[in-house]
Amino acid sequence: MTKTVSNTYYIIVLFTVFLEENDMGKIVYCDYSATTYVKKEVLDEMLPYFTMNFGNASAIYSIGRKSRSAVEEARKKVAKCLNCDSQEVYFTSSGSEADNMALLGIARANKDKGRHIITSKVEHLAVLNTCKELEKEGFEVTYLDVDSNALVRIQNLISAIRKDTILISVMMANNEVGVFEPIYEIGKIAKERGIFFHTDAVQAVGHTKIDVDRLNIDALSLSAHKFFGPKGIGAAYIRKNINFDPVILGGHQEHCKRAGTENVAGIVGLSKAMELANDNIYEHNEKVSYLRNTLKNNIIQNIPDVIINADIENKLPGNISLSINGVDAKTLLLLLDMEGICMSNGSACNLQVETPSHVLSAMGISKSQALSTIRITLGDANTKEDIEYISDVLFNIVKKIRRN
Ligand SMILES: *Cc1c(COP(=O)(O)O)cnc(C)c1O
Repeated sequence: MTKTVSNTYYIIVLFTVFLEENDMGKIVYCDYSATTYVKKEVLDEMLPYFTMNFGNASAIYSIGRKSRSAVEEARKKVAKCLNCDSQEVYFTSSGSEADNMALLGIARANKDKGRHIITSKVEHLAVLNTCKELEKEGFEVTYLDVDSNALVRIQNLISAIRKDTILISVMMANNEVGVFEPIYEIGKIAKERGIFFHTDAVQAVGHTKIDVDRLNIDALSLSAHKFFGPKGIGAAYIRKNINFDPVILGGHQEHCKRAGTENVAGIVGLSKAMELANDNIYEHNEKVSYLRNTLKNNIIQNIPDVIINADIENKLPGNISLSINGVDAKTLLLLLDMEGICMSNGSACNLQVETPSHVLSAMGISKSQALSTIRITLGDANTKEDIEYISDVLFNIVKKIRRN
């Protein structure tokens, strides 16, 4: 069985590679949780910082000072979107680095207060693998179970808290199944007990208003390429009274907390993209969730034996996590790609090893269902025509696969 699947799979890979050169057709992009394109307004603001205004932000002459002021303006914009002070914003090279900065930094600097950390089983690997690293350094980590919708149960969290718990890290929105975790409740509990609270908000920015004070968030991660900014630039918010050790050592940039010459163009792009995303949350969510619901209904009505995972109201507007019984997800994705449709199987599986996603497993989904699961994440460039096209193609491919 597995053998047949993998043979079909490699034949399709070869076929796809062969077709690549001729395939000039249109692309229907439905993988917005993986990354987004860069908005034109964002790119336009970035461009001068590659050419005319290329000065080092630490330099004393005018083109350097221009870079410095661009960086500080950007920091203010980000702070405004989060309702924090600009000194609490640190630019990083990615969302992953922001997660590392917050978790490694806070844990290491506060280890005298306690060595216990709580996170969840559905976090991004940038959080999970950082927690593994902290375990090697002598920290103990509790990985909270989730319910069948990938939600942390507050009662589990409360039971996991110990005298030596110093840090809780639970993501704001899940990248695979799209659900919003109960961040407000978690923040309240953390605050009442004097425990630091970090949230990975990489998927949430642009989909919900974030007020770190109202939500009692002490540290937060975000990444520009998930909200129509460039790749390779992220930011961490870390509340000002919190001690944390820098992870990237060197020069004095970012208030001596993150060495490296500032990525001025990236920082400008991140802040512009964040401002745009924040100003358009409601329109964007409404448009995208309408498309998502239409597609979801088409799928449910036309394709038998499918399961929509984490099918709840409070989730990212474009997300559908879909299990199609008897259909190998990777085969399906390659066939969809041949029709110009970009979707994902929810986690970065490598080509040889069929490991079900840790998120789906934590939700109690069986291995075989997980390997039949695809993630559709719609976004602002999708149209009603896209939805019809996707519905037709998906229906035909599934029928074909199931016949074989
Ligand atoms: C994409 C993503 C990250 C990693 O961000 P990068 O900028 O790609 O390193 C972290 N957490 C979540 C939830 C993500 O979706």
